Amino acid sequence: MRAITVEPGKPGTARLEDVPEPDAREGAVLVEAVAVGVCGTDVEIAEGKYGWAPPGHSRLVLGHESLGRVVDPGPSGGLRKGDLVVGIVRRPDPVPCPNCAVGEWDMCRNGQYTERGIKQIHGFMSERWRIEPEYAVKVDPSLGILGVLLEPTTVIVKALEQVVAVGQRCFWEPKTVLVTGAGPIGLLAAGVAHLAGVEVHVLDRAETGLKPELVRALGATYHSGSVMDLEFEPDVIVECTGAGSVIADSIQKLGAGGVLCLTGVGGGGLSGYAVADAAAKAVLKNNVLVGSVNANKRHWYKASEGLTRLDRRWLSRLITRRERPENFKQALERSPDDVKVVIQFSTILEQA
Ligand SMILES: [Zn+2]
Repeated sequence: MRAITVEPGKPGTARLEDVPEPDAREGAVLVEAVAVGVCGTDVEIAEGKYGWAPPGHSRLVLGHESLGRVVDPGPSGGLRKGDLVVGIVRRPDPVPCPNCAVGEWDMCRNGQYTERGIKQIHGFMSERWRIEPEYAVKVDPSLGILGVLLEPTTVIVKALEQVVAVGQRCFWEPKTVLVTGAGPIGLLAAGVAHLAGVEVHVLDRAETGLKPELVRALGATYHSGSVMDLEFEPDVIVECTGAGSVIADSIQKLGAGGVLCLTGVGGGGLSGYAVADAAAKAVLKNNVLVGSVNANKRHWYKASEGLTRLDRRWLSRLITRRERPENFKQALERSPDDVKVVIQFSTILEQA
């Protein structure tokens, strides 16, 4: 079968090649790939900046934002041939640490977790893949290809759960949420926050085009420019850019008793920015900065429920490009108006 593979740590090694059928040890459920979303992590792995091949292998099958159709559900009940499923990405560490031991592998304490398509387990960019039944999440068949948005939605559901958990430390009635960055994660954050009934604002560099349109279509308010220019102090900020200046401004602008949730992974930042000044702001306003990554099974369940409640036409506009596997290189390149690019392996047949 064909798969998109890469030699982690070496830039320019991504290729579409023939690989053996998935090993039965990878799980009892055999799945035919429908589509795989491309995200910044995939680009970083293809650039040789991140990623680990499985032990004993030099190459890694890329891809962690999956959608597939069950070909063989295996002996366990629950799944049927033809079901649309998405594969959970992270697996608990083998020790396991206390958090992995209780199923909170997203909060792994020792870093020895593994991740499909990223860290030591093959990903989903292959024509067929296998998965353990307990890590296959069934998606509403009416979502069709939109099921490929489930994995990024889980990241946001976890982040918002963290925000609420922090908020519960005191009397807390959040009214305004600011999302910084209108990429797929930012837009899905806006969508999920909107479902919660709060006033949603999204800030991004783009002044025109699809991103402002999608924010307004949601009924949220779009801002371009600086966080410091906003005329209100958000109760919650979900930071999705990873950009130093946006993070610094968010710390300053956050309302008292507020929560700033960091989901973006960047580097560097403003050299002249004083950490103690940021700390003083946080102290005097009782603010909390919380980092959030990955998701556990509870978040997958909640994300799957949330995704079905979002407007289908709006969700479908998030998928701005579909590429065939042979055009994976184009899929790994960003154009300014791209939101989510997916590599489509097969089409979805209508349910019988
Ligand atoms: Zn762990």
